[in-house]
Amino acid sequence: MVLERPGELVIRDQDMPVCGDGEMLVKVRACNICRTDLKCATMGQRDLVYPRVLGHEIAGEIIARGKNVNGYPVGQRVSIHPGISCGVCDYCKSGQDNLCDQIKIMGFNFDGGFQEVIKIDKQAIKSKIVNLIRNDDLAYEEISFIEPLACCVNIQDRLQLNRKAALVIIGGGRLGLLNLFVAKAEGIQNVILIEANEERRNRGKALGFDAVFSGDEPDLLDQLKQCSNGHGVDGVIPCCPGPEAFDLALEILRKQGTLGYFSGLSRNEDFQLDINRIHYKEITVVGSYGCSVKHSQKAKTLLESRKIDVRPLISHRVKLEELERGMDYIRNSDGYSTIVVMK
Ligand SMILES: [Zn+2]
Ligand SMILES: [Zn+2]
Repeated sequence: MVLERPGELVIRDQDMPVCGDGEMLVKVRACNICRTDLKCATMGQRDLVYPRVLGHEIAGEIIARGKNVNGYPVGQRVSIHPGISCGVCDYCKSGQDNLCDQIKIMGFNFDGGFQEVIKIDKQAIKSKIVNLIRNDDLAYEEISFIEPLACCVNIQDRLQLNRKAALVIIGGGRLGLLNLFVAKAEGIQNVILIEANEERRNRGKALGFDAVFSGDEPDLLDQLKQCSNGHGVDGVIPCCPGPEAFDLALEILRKQGTLGYFSGLSRNEDFQLDINRIHYKEITVVGSYGCSVKHSQKAKTLLESRKIDVRPLISHRVKLEELERGMDYIRNSDGYSTIVVMK
């Protein structure tokens, strides 16, 4: 499924890639659709070169292996980490390969998961982008959550909250729930959801949030204080695209609290952010961008051990040729995830 230019997704036949020495072929079995894919498909993105196959949340199966590729058996189920880094710069050497200046990202700089077969070359194998899945009970749909889960592991690593902390997540969609699961796997006692939609609040409560709010409560700050043992909110992760969530985060954080900023905000020229609150309240803002190989491996382990169960988040499955319909589900925030599934 090729993006010829923003707004134009077309299905094309391609020759089967040839598996050379030191290379592998992976058959894509599931690729989760991300809001970034929707944004790229409709508006383009600064790093995109056309024509391009989007998709960076990939689960698949090794179907061919060239000479000198060891430890990757044919038939093995894998998840693909989407970034190929240089391996030699300071960031790469310290395990922060997502920050590598030379990084090439699948679905942006080269073709991604909305196609049937992906060739993994020598540099990609060296970068350890192919993660072997050790739990045979995990379905490909579940494996396709490893990438977004790894992005949540990254932002929570950056937040450095202790177990007694109160963490507020704004937005109860896919990433809000994945952040909940990571926080609970880390043992954080108090994870609170702010979400305008009632159905999502109820779902969030059922899936493990300790308290849920709509955000409209006149005494919201008092209530948040009450459910955090009187000391206030230590960390906030906005998991929705509107800049209003960033503003709300600065409002509800306690003094010296930390705001985790991990997915870009949509532009709103009219919106005025009162940034002085960072100064008055001594707030720390930490950013994170994507995930490193190390974060992907941690996310994989959390799924393999079933410490995290993403099955309640699987709501829509589409075929490759139905990608546009899948994108519509994301656009309309319909369900908690939409996954392209291939036989
Ligand atoms: Zn994504
Ligand atoms: Zn590097």
